[in-house]
Amino acid sequence: MKTRIKEIYKTMEYGPAPEDASEAIQFLKKYNNKFNLFINGKWVTPSSGEYYDSINPSTKEKLAQISEANEADVDKAVAAAKKALPKWVSIGAHQRARYLYALARQIQKHSRLFSVLESLDNGKPIRETRDIDIPIVVRHFYHHAGWAQLRDTELKDYKELGVIGQIIPWNFPLMMLSWKIAPAIAMGNTIVLKPAEATSLTALLFAEICQQIGLPNGVVNIITGHGSTGAAIVNHKDVSKIAFTGSTEVGKIIRRATAGTGKKLSLELGGKSPFIVFEDADLDSVVEGIVDAIWFNQGQVCCAGSRLLVQESIAEKLYKKIRARMENLRIGNALDKSIDIGAIVDDTQLKTIKEMVQLGVDEGSTLNQPSWACPTEGYYYPPTLFTDVSPSATIAQEEIFGPVLVAMSFRTHKEAVKLANNTRYGLACSIWTENINLALDIAPQIKAGVAWINCTNVFDAAAGFGGYRESGFGREGGKEGLMEYLKPRINNEFTDEPLPISINNLDTPNENGLPSLGIDRTTKMYIGGKQARPDGGYSTVINSVKGVYIGEVSKGNRKDIRNAVEAAHANNKWLDMTGHSRAQVLYYLAENLMIRREEFASRIVQMTNQNKSDALQEVDLSIERIYTYAALADKYDGHVHHTIHRNVTLAMPETLGVMGIICPDESPLLGFISTVIPAITMGNSVIVIPSEKLPFSATDFYQVLETSDVPAGTVNIVTGGKDELAQVLAKHDNVDAIWYFGNKEGCREIEFLSADNMKRTWVNYGKYRNWLDKAQGEGQEFLKHASQIKNIWIPYGA
Ligand code: NDP
Repeated sequence: MKTRIKEIYKTMEYGPAPEDASEAIQFLKKYNNKFNLFINGKWVTPSSGEYYDSINPSTKEKLAQISEANEADVDKAVAAAKKALPKWVSIGAHQRARYLYALARQIQKHSRLFSVLESLDNGKPIRETRDIDIPIVVRHFYHHAGWAQLRDTELKDYKELGVIGQIIPWNFPLMMLSWKIAPAIAMGNTIVLKPAEATSLTALLFAEICQQIGLPNGVVNIITGHGSTGAAIVNHKDVSKIAFTGSTEVGKIIRRATAGTGKKLSLELGGKSPFIVFEDADLDSVVEGIVDAIWFNQGQVCCAGSRLLVQESIAEKLYKKIRARMENLRIGNALDKSIDIGAIVDDTQLKTIKEMVQLGVDEGSTLNQPSWACPTEGYYYPPTLFTDVSPSATIAQEEIFGPVLVAMSFRTHKEAVKLANNTRYGLACSIWTENINLALDIAPQIKAGVAWINCTNVFDAAAGFGGYRESGFGREGGKEGLMEYLKPRINNEFTDEPLPISINNLDTPNENGLPSLGIDRTTKMYIGGKQARPDGGYSTVINSVKGVYIGEVSKGNRKDIRNAVEAAHANNKWLDMTGHSRAQVLYYLAENLMIRREEFASRIVQMTNQNKSDALQEVDLSIERIYTYAALADKYDGHVHHTIHRNVTLAMPETLGVMGIICPDESPLLGFISTVIPAITMGNSVIVIPSEKLPFSATDFYQVLETSDVPAGTVNIVTGGKDELAQVLAKHDNVDAIWYFGNKEGCREIEFLSADNMKRTWVNYGKYRNWLDKAQGEGQEFLKHASQIKNIWIPYGA
């Protein structure tokens, strides 16, 4: 005995500390280990009659049989949600808040059961489900019970969307469910949710909780199945929005499948997030941060800090510490309370990880793994560090979704930013330094939706989470997350036909009392602050609405678009300006437009044969609109979120980057101003395709731009075939976002083509706004679509 104790002290070995699984086993037995679908508040057998097995990844033992839902089941679930919707809306904000509160309370009361069931089903350590996943779930329902209550006061200009389809992955099964369901039902929508095939059990327990609290039937429907079940939800005609978390590959399929349908979409996709360590960082904290970044949940985390970027001067020292820490990590059954790493979700994922690691070795990187062996009874993979990795190596570029860290070094701050952004993804980043000035300088430069300073993988219902670039779009959490489940009430006022304009009998502006413009020369395009001839050397004749020849415009082609995109990227001046400075330039623009008021009105009359007074009104409204955005330039700002951690969490609206804007055909000047000005107000550089039929207000505007201190490359204007040029923009990988105002088919094309690099899109689905109406034609909604929110977490506490 004496020697044993001595031995234990020497090895510091822990014995197993298994969590009791009996309640969870009892829950499964209650259903004879066989689960049906939860539709309209009841358990319904799947139409296919088919079930598949759910496995415990820690042991490979079968836990239960899960229903395979087909299209008919999806149809039933959507019908139930549709039927439940009017009543769910009409019971009002307070009643909905009560239901959300009851859900939070009931989950909290059964939190241990949820934790154990989640660990059994997913293989993640009970320490994590108990201390992280389930508390976050509870917090989400509490937080959104509050938003449900405030819905009619804080968000009164918005309306629910209807039936929402939600598809979630296997890495945080119940947590993802809560991120999806809580905001959706709080805002008055009803839902159909599909959990991942491998991890449906806690969603089914959640269905039971919905029954227990008496949630009205059909508000929440849970249907299980494979990818085809998810696809049936995506394609269902009565679904108004799809919220998806999963792989970028499937995200792109969903973007293309929903293109042009008007279904709202939020996609939270993959990542290859940088974990950046500067030489002054506290290295011992860094090591624990790395444990949380890449070995939390076995690295199966979309925002895992999977790319370690270390300042060269400390790289070897840090690698040594990481190797030592890896040696001490404990791996084992998810229900063992003393383990750090659990099991990989299933054999397919384990195989993917093994293949990626082999590829890393084959490509010449150095593999570091602990000396100990993994248990053999489940799907385990050891913590892994790759050093000597080239930035272009497959393992440095592709998401592995396993406990594999790839390390690279950098010398300067600039190089760190460059390396960090050398990825198609943009979900999160983690920055480690004791210098807050440096951290706050780096955070905005990283193209990612979340920046954690001296921390990592922290989440809270009050803060938004979501990506840039191919990590998807939309936010979950915070007020910004609610917007994903609402639409502006004003959208109901958009029409199927453009606003009729009153046409006079006069042929020329001067008959109308305005200066005559005569026959115009052929206008050039405007690229990089200069007038440019079209690459193709062609021009297009433009007639007035009465068919009278007015002049010609350059016919732009794909080369012109490429040049314009290049010019937009070369322009950092505009991006670097403060809101105040941008406002000054915008005021100056308005002033210079005012000087040419009559001339611009003449042009409108010449193109549209409108009355002088209408044309002057359009110019005056354009000036007023520029004033509005000049005013908002230093006022459209972010929040400091009330997260539950000791953090200041800054939610900052950031520039999207380079945007394509395809202007409406109506209101030739005002339509141009109403779309271009909000986009540049947020710091974007734009490539504008003006109205194809009535382009001269935009081409006349060159002179206003030239005289107003707008940096070269901020506004680039390419005239020509609207849809042809729009498609080139939509396919361009260096364009970050695109707004399209045109017909339905054009909208579909834009959304479909944008999937290649996951650019943000804002299209009108063939509907018309009245640009003359302030409520429809201007405001913060435009700025929202011209920016994206980054949440920066700054911990405090000595
Ligand atoms: P998927 O993207 O395939 O799955 C996510 C969810 O979408 C699941 O519920 C899945 O159902 C469903 N689904 C699959 N195909 C379709 C479709 N065509 N239409 C609608 N829904 C669909 O991820 P996987 O689970 O297959 O994992 C593959 C890889 O994706 C991982 O190795 C990892 O790299 C990445 N991933 C990223 C996640 C993230 O949070 N960013 C989360 C999970 C995975 P089913 O489960 O039945 O396949």
